Amino acid sequence: VDTHDEIGDLAHTINTMAEKLEKVEQERHHLEQVRNDFLANVSHELRTPLTAMQGFLEALQDGLVEDEEARQKYYAVMYSETMQVNRLVDDLMDLMKLENNEVNLAKFPVDVAEVMNRVAFSFRQEAEEKGLQLVVEAEAELPRIYADKDRVAQILKNLLKNALKFTTAGEIRMTAGLQEQWMRIQVQDTGMGIAADDLDRIWERFFKVDRGRSKNNKGTGLGLAIVKELVELHDGVCRVESVPGEGSTFTILLPIMPVSPVSLVKQGP
Ligand code: ADP
Repeated sequence: VDTHDEIGDLAHTINTMAEKLEKVEQERHHLEQVRNDFLANVSHELRTPLTAMQGFLEALQDGLVEDEEARQKYYAVMYSETMQVNRLVDDLMDLMKLENNEVNLAKFPVDVAEVMNRVAFSFRQEAEEKGLQLVVEAEAELPRIYADKDRVAQILKNLLKNALKFTTAGEIRMTAGLQEQWMRIQVQDTGMGIAADDLDRIWERFFKVDRGRSKNNKGTGLGLAIVKELVELHDGVCRVESVPGEGSTFTILLPIMPVSPVSLVKQGP
């Protein structure tokens, strides 16, 4: 009877191990797929500007562009394509470091309104040229948040860049206010909006809504993935709401500066 039991146990153990092996194999397969998708995306994003540059270079080389004005235009386009490659590599490196937990935040008390105004300032001209209103509104006497100022600026920059890119008329509104223990920062636009089916996916790296239609979208598809990583690194939350044809609202909640231990110490009589 003992031997019988032992064989039964053994068979059970073998079954369990086989199941585990299968799970590991499935996981390995999944990781391989993620890796392949990633490489395919990087290749695609690199090839697009490189193919454009190659075409222009060939035309120049073959002496097909005769007048100086046209030549200058070709140079300008090629220059902007090299910038696109640079942006992609920068974003990629940044995202990789974030995903590998290699980014250390330099956290200090930050005045969000000040960062908002500084970032908005750098977009004013672009907004004006597109005929868009750029409004910045912060509630009075907001507390500082404990955060990495440059990274908060990067978050706002990425959101504003998108708002400008996907809006052709109306206004872009960046606001800050308190929401319980959070600092709520919102970037609202009156642009093309995002379809409900795509809303969950826009935070994925390389995801762009309707690649065909957004051919002119000089983005890398990494901006929001970086935003999400940065916000989560700050123990914050990202949300998005959108109505196609009406506009989008991106909301970032960041924890307010923790009460410093010093201020908890009872002051003497
Ligand atoms: P990209 O570099 O393409 O802007 P992002 O990661 O920043 O990459 O955004 C991913 C996609 O989400 C964009 O390509 C666009 O389709 C969509 N998206 C982001 N922000 C907006 C917005 N404010 N309005 C409409 N669509 C947006």
